[in-house]
Amino acid sequence: MIVVMGSHAAQVQVDGVVNRLKEFGLGAHISGGTERTVIGVIGVGFPPELPELMELLPGVDHVTRITKSYKLASREFRPTDTIVHVGDVSIGGDELVVMAGPCSVENREQLLQTARAVKAAGARILRGGAFKPRTSPYSFQGLGVNGLELLAEAREETGLPIITEVLEPGDVATVARFADVLQIGARNMQNFPLLKEAGRTDKPIMLKRGLAGTIDEWLHAAEYVMAAGNFQVILCERGIRTFETSVRNTLDLSAVPVIRRLSHLPIVADPSHGTGKWYLVKPMALAALAVGAHGLLIEVHPSPDHALSDGPQSLNFENFADLMDGLRSLVVPLGRRVGSAEPAAVPA
Ligand code: PEP
Ligand code: MN
Repeated sequence: MIVVMGSHAAQVQVDGVVNRLKEFGLGAHISGGTERTVIGVIGVGFPPELPELMELLPGVDHVTRITKSYKLASREFRPTDTIVHVGDVSIGGDELVVMAGPCSVENREQLLQTARAVKAAGARILRGGAFKPRTSPYSFQGLGVNGLELLAEAREETGLPIITEVLEPGDVATVARFADVLQIGARNMQNFPLLKEAGRTDKPIMLKRGLAGTIDEWLHAAEYVMAAGNFQVILCERGIRTFETSVRNTLDLSAVPVIRRLSHLPIVADPSHGTGKWYLVKPMALAALAVGAHGLLIEVHPSPDHALSDGPQSLNFENFADLMDGLRSLVVPLGRRVGSAEPAAVPA
């Protein structure tokens, strides 16, 4: 249910609505739009007469029920875009936030070198997997807690916040001690115990779309995190399984505007896993920016041919810098920004 305030409603009237909801054991999520304030009602099991009662309160314009079965994640619940703050980085606004780094943290030198290179090229968040979900149990599984310590060291040196994957509910507290953003991987999109545990942390969660997850299932997965109390959710389109074999996955770029229509949550694209091939990463990254992605997740490695995971889709430092240049030339006409530097002048 949402309570839409009249366009001239005073703060005291908004407070009146919030207090009345509290009397029914319900919470409130306030979106202050430019036109009017919308109050999303948090909680279940309210009496059927409540919408009518709320419409009697001073300053209230009308009350509507949310039609989607995911509520908190829906655009109806919050008409304005959610901005997720990670240190001084804001995801969900004008800036295209680039998160870059190796698929797996392999060793100190590899991570620090990559962290310096991606920072110099304009990345805002460092990525690196310490707990890796691998198809084969015989493949490199990640450095675990040692990988988290190396990520923390790279953050210390570069100032870049870090994002890393958490694979199981029992590891959430440990990973949350180190990471600035917790990644829930494609294979875990519907791991409900993991989603609930992530929802109990105070860290932003980046939720990847499952290999065969519909947008509806993905938004319900986000709802699990939010229903557990954590509203800082970022969605990540990373490609889905289709009949196509010339790419590792099919990056579903239509998901970006679809999500922006259905939800207020930020949406980022991962053209690395979305294509599986380094030479497709730049064109699909530019396309993701053009369709309105709030950020990008890009795999970068000092020597992709030596990578312990996902080498074929990883950019070397030169190619990453070239990608960032390409993004810089596109952000200005699109009214966006990228990296920490001032936007380039509009080309004549
Ligand atoms: C990753 O980001 O390295 C990863 C394993 O991604 P996904 O869950 O999308 O496969
Ligand atoms: Mn990877």
